[in-house]
Amino acid sequence: MNLNHPVTYIKGVSVARAELLYTELGIKTCNDLLHLFPFRYIDKTQFYTINQLQQNSSEVQIVGKITGVKEVKQKRGSRLVATFADATGSIDLVWFKGAKWIKDSLKIDTPYVIYGKLNWYNNTANMPHPEMETVKEYKNKLQMAMQPVYPSTEKLSNKGISNKMMRSMLQNLLQQVFGNIEETLPSSLLNEHQLLGKRDSLLNIHFPKNQELLAKAQYRLKFEELFFIQMQLLQKKLIRKSKIKGYIFEQVGEQFNQFYKNHLPFDLTNAQKRVLKEIRKDIGSGAHMNRLLQGDVGSGKTIVALLSMLIAIDNGYQATIMAPTEILATQHYNGIVELLEETDIKVELLTGSSKTKKRREIHAGLEDGTLHILIGTHAILEDKVKFKNLGISIIDEQHRFGVAQRSKMWQKNGLPPHVLVMTATPIPRTLAMSVYGDLDISVIDELPPGRKEIKTVHRYDSNRLGVFKFLKDEIAKGRQAYVVYPLIQESEAMDYKDLMDGYESIVRDFPAPEYQISIVHGKMKPADKDYEMNRFVKGETQIMVATTVIEVGVNVPNASVMVIESAERFGLSQLHQLRGRVGRGAEQSYCILLSSYKLSSDGKTRLQTMVETTDGFKIAEVDLKLRGPGNIMGTQQSGVLNLKIADVVKDTSILYAARQTAINVLQDDPALSKQENASLLKVFTQIQKTSGLWSNIS
Ligand code: ADP
Ligand code: MG
Repeated sequence: MNLNHPVTYIKGVSVARAELLYTELGIKTCNDLLHLFPFRYIDKTQFYTINQLQQNSSEVQIVGKITGVKEVKQKRGSRLVATFADATGSIDLVWFKGAKWIKDSLKIDTPYVIYGKLNWYNNTANMPHPEMETVKEYKNKLQMAMQPVYPSTEKLSNKGISNKMMRSMLQNLLQQVFGNIEETLPSSLLNEHQLLGKRDSLLNIHFPKNQELLAKAQYRLKFEELFFIQMQLLQKKLIRKSKIKGYIFEQVGEQFNQFYKNHLPFDLTNAQKRVLKEIRKDIGSGAHMNRLLQGDVGSGKTIVALLSMLIAIDNGYQATIMAPTEILATQHYNGIVELLEETDIKVELLTGSSKTKKRREIHAGLEDGTLHILIGTHAILEDKVKFKNLGISIIDEQHRFGVAQRSKMWQKNGLPPHVLVMTATPIPRTLAMSVYGDLDISVIDELPPGRKEIKTVHRYDSNRLGVFKFLKDEIAKGRQAYVVYPLIQESEAMDYKDLMDGYESIVRDFPAPEYQISIVHGKMKPADKDYEMNRFVKGETQIMVATTVIEVGVNVPNASVMVIESAERFGLSQLHQLRGRVGRGAEQSYCILLSSYKLSSDGKTRLQTMVETTDGFKIAEVDLKLRGPGNIMGTQQSGVLNLKIADVVKDTSILYAARQTAINVLQDDPALSKQENASLLKVFTQIQKTSGLWSNIS
């Protein structure tokens, strides 16, 4: 029998059951079922007597006999209660469903082995829905030290596909296909990492002979799973680097050197220098650059972007920066125009609100090459925007732009421009490896010198008046402040009410004309939003009351206080992003996290983490541990969420080993054409057929 056969080939699997397995668990083939791994194991080596049962014993196995059965009528249906006794006492076995059917099958005075979880009421135990078999059945069965428990669904158990049945299906399956399970890893790898063979791993993951073999089976299967993901990512990177050609920027010329010598307003940090070197290596190599630049808020990504653009210009090419909002684009534009003031480099801004006349000018400048740098929003991606020779494209705050949009930029002319994606959302290293393992990643892990650490405190709602007093003192010193309210989609109406209530109370406590207050939220028209934002940016208002729309990017160096209302409702990365809005100027900045007294344990951890550290990578690690990878950007598309056995958060060391191994294999045999790698090639061909992973390369 072949592993690709449908599960109906397995002894005991009817068409109806196969259908259920498919709709409930997505299992179609024998191979699918073989890779449905138990999520825990039951150790049935131990027996209890009834007088040994304790409140804290979890699942227990007892030998005894049923001495009586009664049906108890309830409002709906009936409940079946059987008295189960051994020499030391008795307990009730209870069924809430299927009473009729079960009643007929119970045999009085026949020795049974029962197994299940206990419920306790007033010091007496009962066992709902026990697993049971007669002692005779029990003795006839191949006894295992440990038994697997499979993932299930309500529908599966209602329709009678119990864990016991799953076990027997897998037992039959393994018996039928064991000889046909092929090794997928080369023997050199098995030896090097002392991995259990594939067959033994699958056998022991389902029916472990002992704890040690189970651990070995788990290790091998996790390793394999992570290894193949890394192989795919690295292969993709390899193909990209060898197949997708990029412009070669051979020289670092006049513009770069002049600027670096005469106009750079500060010394670069070591991290900035290192990243710049990495970029220079890419764009001089002849391969296409697709690099992710991670750097916390304020780490100085913009200057790295600008210097990279100058290299492109030195080589006769044009450059763009794309930002997710008009305000951000405008800020980039103003900053860069200022930096380039004394050069002859031409820079323009293109956004949705650019006037027609301006647009025409820009289009013309781009096409004849007199315009060197274009900064803008999505507007840059419009078909009308054609470059003479776009050499590099910088994308700020990547999560607002999909890959599709990125590749659209590639098609503007002959070769794709080099791409540098900048993000202020730190991604923990292990996750970056599994999600962006095909990209090149640079990290600015150092803030420019002289920054004052933002002081962060946690206060309860009842301290709000004290917080307002503090705000007044800061405003009196000429500072500005943000007050941010959560906006969570599920309770949007309530949240808007909170925001408006909060706004009104602030207006009351900070009366005009002494105080001017801006408000910005998602329900406003973009033009109104921009108007309010701009008043705050220009310093016309002292307080900005907002929902999280200010999360991305605005730069108001004079704002030195961030008050976050209901801070316990925000995620860690959001809190970190919000806090990054302050601490941009020379003044001491503050972040005040307000919460109610009622905090979940995760909520407490989040607030504590914020108070303890400002290191974005540390915060991201905590976030990953709290929330799992599912909520972290980019993971949805990456497949790490569909891992069957490995866990990118917990299996860190296996992940490193798997990645290094994949690197070694591909270095030695990039096309997997060596005889010893035949099994790898086979798995790969299979993966290519079934996943769209590589489709964007051909
Ligand atoms: P981000 O990484 O958040 O985009 P920016 O590029 O906006 O950060 O830089 C934040 C601020 O730090 C800017 O005002 C910038 O001029 C300044 N800056 C960047 N690099 C340095 C440096 N090496 N030394 C001093 N100040 C720097
Ligand atoms: Mg920035």
